[in-house]
Amino acid sequence: MNIDLHSHSNQSDGVLPPTDVAVRAHANGVDWWALSDHDETSGLAEASEAARDLGLGFIPGVEISVTFCDKTVHVLGLNIDPGQPELSAGLAGIRHSRFERARKLADLLSGCGIDGAFEGAMRHVDNPDLIGRVHFARFLLEQGHCKSLQQAFDRYLGDGKRAFVPVRWASLEQAVGWILAAGGKAVIAHPGRYRYTPQQQDALFGTFKSLGGCGIEVVTGSHTPAQSVHYTQVALTYGFEASRGSDFHAPGAGRADLGGMPDLSDRLVPVWRDWI
Ligand code: AMP
Ligand code: MN
Ligand code: MN
Ligand code: MN
Repeated sequence: MNIDLHSHSNQSDGVLPPTDVAVRAHANGVDWWALSDHDETSGLAEASEAARDLGLGFIPGVEISVTFCDKTVHVLGLNIDPGQPELSAGLAGIRHSRFERARKLADLLSGCGIDGAFEGAMRHVDNPDLIGRVHFARFLLEQGHCKSLQQAFDRYLGDGKRAFVPVRWASLEQAVGWILAAGGKAVIAHPGRYRYTPQQQDALFGTFKSLGGCGIEVVTGSHTPAQSVHYTQVALTYGFEASRGSDFHAPGAGRADLGGMPDLSDRLVPVWRDWI
C-alpha cells in the first residue's frame, strides 16, 4: 500500500486545488492520502469528495504551527474532525497571527526597498484566510528579487533573515489538545528539520508524548535517507508510531512528489494501523 499522509493545496501554501491534489495522488499510485494544509481545514470537504469519486482512501489532516523553545515546530493532526469547535477556533487564531505577520513582513521588505509586498503576496494567495511566507517568496521571485523560492528564504524570509518576523504560534499543549479534542492523532512533522540541541529535542519528544502525542514522521520529503534511518531509531526509542508523507506543495517542487517516498521500516508501528 502506498500511503501519503502529508500534503498541501492552494488552501494554504500549495498551488493545486484540493481536487487536483487528489487526482495527482491517485495517478501516482497512492492508496490512502491525507490533505494537511497549514493551520487550515477549508480544503478537506472538497478533498474528501474528490477522493471518494476516485476510489482513493482519504484521511482528513492539518499541519499546525507551534512554538516550542522559541522555534517553530509543525504538528500534524491526522484523522481529525475538522468541525470540532476548539480546533477550529485555535486554527482561526493562528491564521490571524499569520495575517499580522504578513503586514510586518511587508514593512520589513519595504525597508529593503521592496514596496507593495503585501498586495503582491496576496495576488499569490488563493485562500484569503491563509497567508504564508511562500506567498511572499512567489512575489519576490516574480519581481526578480531572487532567482528561486529557496533564495527568497535565504535572502529575506528565512529565520533571522532581513524580513523575518518571529511569531508565537500555538503552544505544543494547545496544538495536541485541539487534535485530541477533534478525535485525531498528533504527529510531529519532519523532525529532521528543526535546529534543536539534543537536550531541546529530547524535551520536545518527551513533552509531546506526555501531552498525548502519538508519533513522528519518519519518512518525509523533507528527510534525507540517512535522516529516515535516524528517525526510525528515534521512533523505536521513544515508543512513537511512525508516519509517511511527501509534504507535497507543487509539481516539480520539493524532494518528493505525492506517494514518491521510500516505505517505512517494518520494525515500526504505522500511525494508520487502526484506520487502514
Ligand atoms: P510559514 O508557515 O508561512 O512560516 O512558511 C513555512 C513554509 O515555507 C513551509 O511549510 C515551506 O512550505 C516553506 N519553506 C520554508 N523554508 C523554505 C525554504 N528554505 N525554501 C522554500 N520553502 C520553504
Ligand atoms: Mn508549506
Ligand atoms: Mn511543515
Ligand atoms: Mn507541510
